[in-house]
Amino acid sequence: MFNLSDLEKIVDLKEPHHLFEKKPTLLFWEVTRACPLRCVHCRANAILNRLPNELTTIEAQKMLETISTFDPKPPIVIFTGGDPLMRDDLFELIDYAKGLGLLCSLSPAVSENINDDVIKKIKESSVLSVSISLDGATPVTHDYIRQRDGIFFKTLNVIKRFIKNGIRVQVNSVVLSLNIIEFPRLFHLIKSLGVNVWEVFFIVVTGRATKFLDLDQKKFEELAQFIFDCSMYGLTIRTVEAPFIRRIYYERMTGLKFEDELYNFLREELIKLEGNPTSKTTINSRGTLDGDGIIFISYDGSIYPGGLLPIKIGDVKNDNIVKVYRENEILNKIRNRNFKGKCGTCLFKYVCGGSRARAFSNSNDPLESDPACIFSSETLYDQI
Ligand code: SF4
Repeated sequence: MFNLSDLEKIVDLKEPHHLFEKKPTLLFWEVTRACPLRCVHCRANAILNRLPNELTTIEAQKMLETISTFDPKPPIVIFTGGDPLMRDDLFELIDYAKGLGLLCSLSPAVSENINDDVIKKIKESSVLSVSISLDGATPVTHDYIRQRDGIFFKTLNVIKRFIKNGIRVQVNSVVLSLNIIEFPRLFHLIKSLGVNVWEVFFIVVTGRATKFLDLDQKKFEELAQFIFDCSMYGLTIRTVEAPFIRRIYYERMTGLKFEDELYNFLREELIKLEGNPTSKTTINSRGTLDGDGIIFISYDGSIYPGGLLPIKIGDVKNDNIVKVYRENEILNKIRNRNFKGKCGTCLFKYVCGGSRARAFSNSNDPLESDPACIFSSETLYDQI
């Protein structure tokens, strides 16, 4: 039986964690906006050709030098895009970052840019991992989302080739209204490929993503509850823009069970495919938010709290990113959970905090509540 007083005893819920005050744990650098694909939900509104105001090689090297001064330990730098493989100096820049002691990961698009020679270069570059997008369990869905015929099978092939070459693979999947029903089969497929991490992005309406692709609050909750179930089969799972999964972590710890039509269907499908859970959850009880452990640099050097939160807070050509990360007012408000509405008074605000990107997309205010979250401290547990 669920007991609210059990939750009130959990220390984590009472204090800010201060884990990421001095430095982010992940720094995403959009090395280019150019990409051969034209995905329906693309955050970056990526285009076919490189833009003239991309950071030059020298500017990028200077930026990496500053990133390496984050202490006590610099963040992992994720080379993303667009498609980073559209940049001729990509491997030169990864080498430069490595020479500065930075750990790097790479997030390429699946396209004709990936061939045996490129896989060899990626292997030699010693990046920590490569992340590849797979958004559907069927060719129809994935090819539609990525707007390219044949990309589903090509993606499976690319993932297998990376794994065969000893490269760690993370698969990224975005949850949209049109693919939610495929998630049990998608999880089963990803697990069978032998990838190391599954990262599930919960849609934020920004860039090319429209309201048509969005979910309502109930579906966000059902999917988050389902993803929590998936995390009990040994595969490392992380979520993006769904920090309320950490609320679910604590609710489950105290015995709260969830039931609803779509969730029940997804869960039954999961059990049919994978059997009963085999491990403890791999979801972390603490984590990042945009601006709290995460920072994003765009192709032209602009600094943002996150890739889906388009509020410019600086520019690497004129500002020191270490100083921006530590001193920016919005970032400090996010870290101190200085939020409005129900996220501001929520029992879970220090472990969750809501998606700041979705709050901004919904209200133009990054400190407002996350509209995807069904929870309300005032009402929900009264009914239990
Ligand atoms: S109300 Fe906000 S802080 Fe509370 S669980 Fe929901 S998203 Fe997280």
